[in-house]
Amino acid sequence: MPVLDVQNAKKAFGDNEVLHDISFHVDQGEVVAIIGPSGSGKSTLLRCCTTLETLDGGSIYFGEDALVQATPSGGCAYSDRETQQRIRRRFGLVFQNFNLFPHFSVMQNLCDAPIHIAGIGREQAMAKATELLQKMGLADKADAYPCQLSGGQQQRVAIARALALDPEILFFDEPTSALDPELTGEILQVMRQLANEHMTMVVVTHEMIFARDVADRVIFMDKGFIVEEGDPRQVIDHPVQDRTKAFLKRTF
Ligand code: ADP
Ligand code: MG
Repeated sequence: MPVLDVQNAKKAFGDNEVLHDISFHVDQGEVVAIIGPSGSGKSTLLRCCTTLETLDGGSIYFGEDALVQATPSGGCAYSDRETQQRIRRRFGLVFQNFNLFPHFSVMQNLCDAPIHIAGIGREQAMAKATELLQKMGLADKADAYPCQLSGGQQQRVAIARALALDPEILFFDEPTSALDPELTGEILQVMRQLANEHMTMVVVTHEMIFARDVADRVIFMDKGFIVEEGDPRQVIDHPVQDRTKAFLKRTF
């Protein structure tokens, strides 16, 4: 059973149809990279998968749990609050702009959800946070505030925070787009390490070399459609579709 299964997802903002019948799945331990031009619906797709936005039609499953299911009329029905909350604990999300709580220390950023949402004891949450900060090379930053950290350090805190509840799947939306090239490398390195540890990940990215080297599968989206999908060496080095070829020519 896939960790994530998206079937016939549809989404419009008013007249703007942003997702047309998007279907894809992510298996346990797989890294799926989503590439495509700006405005193609990548963030909207991730936001729909992570309950930040709602679909108009189609289904999304996390394992056996349905977040939303297609209805015969072409719409969709969301699961009850309890199921949605259970699903929210099964994934982690990392944004482009770090989205740390600015008035919380690094330790508080990492412990907030485990303590207040998952009901984990303070000591246990802090022990886990300390372990994650060590893994991210930030053991000495537990008491720092986000504004005292570099962009790369802030993003590593955001990744540690996303890992704090032992997610089954991690979503990244352009995690390096706000960073200088030298800081981009340190984040991509952390993501490579997670991939080596068989973390299941969906990564929206413009880093084609990373996508080619690290992803098990690449999805190319354009104008709300999946235009091409497959092995990274095939999609990135030998694309079949003209739109993929044109995009990669601009990107490389
Ligand atoms: P990408 O991440 O691939 O750049 P987005 O998913 O951000 O694409 O955007 C896809 C389209 O949806 C764009 O036309 C964008 O303007 C529109 N869009 C995204 N979010 C909203 C929103 N909250 N309200 C209205 N339109 C939106
Ligand atoms: Mg986006």
